[in-house]
Amino acid sequence: MDRLSELRACFNGRLYTDDLEAQPFVVDWRKQWRGACLAVAQPDTVEDVASVVKWCASTGTPIVAQGGNTGLSGGATPDASGNAIVLSLTRLNRVRGADAINNTITVDAGVLLSDVQLAAAAVDRFFPLSLAAEGTCTIGGNLATNAGGTAVLRYGTARELCLGLEVVTATSEVWNGLRALRKDNTGYDLRDLFIGSEGTLGIITGAVMKLFPKPIGTEVVLVSVATVDDAVALFALARNVMGQSLSACELINPMCVELVETHSTIRSPLPDTAHWIVLLECESFDASDSLRTRMESLLETAMSAGLIADAVIAESDRQRESFWALRENVSEAQGAAGPTIKHDIAIPISSIVDFVRVTNEAVRQFDPDLRFVTFGHLGDGNLHYNFSPSATDADPQTFVAKQERLNEIVHDHVRTYGGSISAEHGLGVLRRDEADRYRSDVERRMQHAVKRALDPLGILNPGKVLPPDPTHIRQLPGRAAR
Ligand SMILES: Cc1cc2nc3c(=O)[nH]c(=O)nc-3n(C[C@H](O)[C@H](O)[C@H](O)COP(=O)(O)OP(=O)(O)OC[C@H]3O[C@@H](n4cnc5c(N)ncnc54)[C@H](O)[C@@H]3O)c2cc1C
Repeated sequence: MDRLSELRACFNGRLYTDDLEAQPFVVDWRKQWRGACLAVAQPDTVEDVASVVKWCASTGTPIVAQGGNTGLSGGATPDASGNAIVLSLTRLNRVRGADAINNTITVDAGVLLSDVQLAAAAVDRFFPLSLAAEGTCTIGGNLATNAGGTAVLRYGTARELCLGLEVVTATSEVWNGLRALRKDNTGYDLRDLFIGSEGTLGIITGAVMKLFPKPIGTEVVLVSVATVDDAVALFALARNVMGQSLSACELINPMCVELVETHSTIRSPLPDTAHWIVLLECESFDASDSLRTRMESLLETAMSAGLIADAVIAESDRQRESFWALRENVSEAQGAAGPTIKHDIAIPISSIVDFVRVTNEAVRQFDPDLRFVTFGHLGDGNLHYNFSPSATDADPQTFVAKQERLNEIVHDHVRTYGGSISAEHGLGVLRRDEADRYRSDVERRMQHAVKRALDPLGILNPGKVLPPDPTHIRQLPGRAAR
């Protein structure tokens, strides 16, 4: 029997071996990485997942787990060798149950993020994880990348929303860690090891996620500010005045607005095109809370302090959506405008003003004409610090050739200010080597020790997250243990 016939014999799910069928699974969302695979396996059950992993372990075949394939760091794309099995989890898509009293929902890993939100709403609860790819990405992918999105300020990242996991280990055992507990101090936190591990430590097959009461009121305001300093001061004021009601604080620079208005039908309601825009969202859970009055009082205080130049409060759900659309369409508009150089960075909020001032200056010294496309989740200290070509970069290749030096300038400054070079998109292959460059020896040793312990054969998404470890002796079939 050839290799694939053996796999077919032990696996009940779908198996795509045809190049054409496999094509969508070997190219990433932005078409930045292209790979090849032996086959795409689409299991329907956790047992099927375990069967695939068992076969891969017995044959030394690499496994690339994949959810909605919306990741932005190349983590879900196999390499070009054609040796790997892509393990697509999208048919593992049952909502296993919701517990409105415990405020939890238990789902298969392949459930779409938007379907988790709908299942929560069906039991009169709210699931806050939200990102522009929510109609395509899966909860398993969200956990494997520790996704952030638009509600981190109030509710936290995917990690903070997760109580329990079910995982098929690299040796094909099923770990049932589906605990629906807010307190559990019974040993090392295995759940947290798998979250954010990008398919390199285990295959997530199920999860218990936290639910929340539904907000009864929401206000969204767009505010025009002259500088990043004013934006940060406004955020600090908003946090004091609005307290726990503040659910999002997003920032976009004037270039973002120009790009969105050029490449879509979305328009900013604020007339001053030279100003930055801050989007503030607040939620209320109490009928007696006059959210609008508190929001207006915040804006008055900010205006008297000279922090803001103008503001518009959304008057309807439609207007709230259109305000968010201005922010959420920046990435797409930047892509439509030509090649991009992107950085997904986190900086302590208290250092953002200095970081932007000093790094902007260093970038201008390198190339005075680059266009800064700076936006992001200001309230989480997460900036998408991006660049588009200048008018003089007529040839896209001239611009793309600047990427390496720009990464170095930006990421060295990120390190100086105590930040992270990957806030919410993971490392995949995109940031793997750079992240390793900034690691201390002790951290590098611990990272590799975890990988060796949980994936002794080195078959889980090899080459992603961590550079190859020369001391990791893979115990491939037929090789005697040392
Ligand atoms: C338009 C757009 C907007 C986005 N906005 C945001 C945003 O605001 N915030 C944010 O954080 N991200 C954002 N992303 C990135 C992306 O949507 C997230 O990383 C998402 O969590 C990926 O989920 P997925 O199911 O598509 O995973 P995939 O892309 O399929 O996989 C991502 C990684 O997780 C691994 N993986 C997937 N499923 C499993 C599993 N079940 N078990 C183990 N490993 C697995 C893969 O091997 C890969 O390494 C955006 C992407 C797009 C295209």
